[in-house]
Amino acid sequence: MGICSLESVCTTRLPKAGETIIGHKFFIGFGGKGANQCVQAARLGAKTSMICKVGKDSFGNEYTENFKRNEISTGKAFLNIISPIIFKETIIGIRNVIVIVPGANLLVDSEDLKRAADVICKAKVIVCQLEITPATSLEALKMAHASGVKTLFNPAPAQADLHPQFYTLSDIFCCNETEAEILTGLPVGNPEDAGKVGSILLERGCKLVIVTLGAEGCVMISKEDPVPKHVPAGKVKAMDTTGAGDSFVGALAFYLAYYPNLSMEEMIRKSNFIASVSVQTPGTQSSYPYRKDLPQDLF
Ligand code: ADP
Repeated sequence: MGICSLESVCTTRLPKAGETIIGHKFFIGFGGKGANQCVQAARLGAKTSMICKVGKDSFGNEYTENFKRNEISTGKAFLNIISPIIFKETIIGIRNVIVIVPGANLLVDSEDLKRAADVICKAKVIVCQLEITPATSLEALKMAHASGVKTLFNPAPAQADLHPQFYTLSDIFCCNETEAEILTGLPVGNPEDAGKVGSILLERGCKLVIVTLGAEGCVMISKEDPVPKHVPAGKVKAMDTTGAGDSFVGALAFYLAYYPNLSMEEMIRKSNFIASVSVQTPGTQSSYPYRKDLPQDLF
């Protein structure tokens, strides 16, 4: 849930108010956390469905084609609504700041979820984020939870006042450092900090918390094993880390659905690897690897 067209501009610095600066690169791609995660899972071989809305405009039409190319089902829940989706991103070196204009995403509502009930309740895993309205995301999690579907929640973009049921309805609660900081008010700069915030989030009712730490990999902590565990990522030459977290979440959803007997640590190790491949080429979805190009011991 959550899609957008992604316009990226590369500059050496951000403009000041009222200033115009010259950028050195501009490109348009496909983005949105939910769609990115779905694309990564599909490229690993998962059968995926997106519950979303797109604008009835050129962005929406191109996105529809993008879903088809990635063999993502949009089924009955897919509606075209007149509303633009704009996503702007400014890359400064390899850092990025992001502005989201949610557009059609905010129009996904409980009626759409009812129409998609079959897809939600018969899935192996549902992945939700906060790029559609939180109330709709929460309702989707409730529907999935009631049907015994595994829930993977990615609280992004983060909100300090997240509804408490997001924690209790999450089998896996997966956030990055910034999101963990917003949710707990504590700084997260290393695996030790991540363990501390992870235990706070765990106490709010999740079964398992994963805090991703960029090049450092992740920290996981669970009800079953409340001692934080650092799962490092391999050392790679990062070129563009945009969307790494979504590649990670998409890969994790794939392993949860298709390799449920793997240990969580092993799923995280493999998902770290896949996300670390994505940071070695530019772009977001364009950098996500396909199953055929990955070492076969991942499968
Ligand atoms: P987000 O994109 O949400 O900010 P992170 O930056 O924490 O997420 O990255 C998510 C995952 O991507 C990490 O847990 C790791 O597996 C992988 N990753 C990100 N940056 C790097 C990097 N520089 N080197 C290796 N792996 C990386």
